[in-house]
Amino acid sequence: MAVSKRIVLHFPKRLVDRPIVYRLVKDYDLEFNILKAFFTPEEEGLMVLEISGEQKDYDRGIRYLTKSGVRIQSLSQDVVLNEERCTHCGACITICPTNAFELDPQTRRVIFYNEKCVACGQCIKACPPRAIELHF
Ligand code: SF4
Ligand code: SF4
Repeated sequence: MAVSKRIVLHFPKRLVDRPIVYRLVKDYDLEFNILKAFFTPEEEGLMVLEISGEQKDYDRGIRYLTKSGVRIQSLSQDVVLNEERCTHCGACITICPTNAFELDPQTRRVIFYNEKCVACGQCIKACPPRAIELHF
């Protein structure tokens, strides 16, 4: 059975410059599209992929990634801003790697653009009043 899934890969520092994803094609017969990628020197890397192939190859490929030390997250996890809790402090704006938060210059309120979010979870830890929630 053929599958196509969107996932987020978190690369620890030691793996950031290794050709890990390339092996999905070569050794596991999978195809992938890189939808987004963020790599900062000396820090964790993040990549959003759409992977397609046979289910058994997909399962083998995911096992290989996990064994290599890559943390995998499904994009079905949805990040939600709880408007009642948000104090519009702006801490999430600076931390989000995809610029999913913006400050409205007129109202001075923080706006969340869910379609830009790759569910990395960084803003959840950074938000002082815990106004950002991860829904499954
Ligand atoms: S860090 Fe939390 S409280 Fe501050 S603007 Fe972002 S969502 Fe609102
Ligand atoms: S989880 Fe938060 S920090 Fe990560 S991409 Fe989504 S909005 Fe940005």
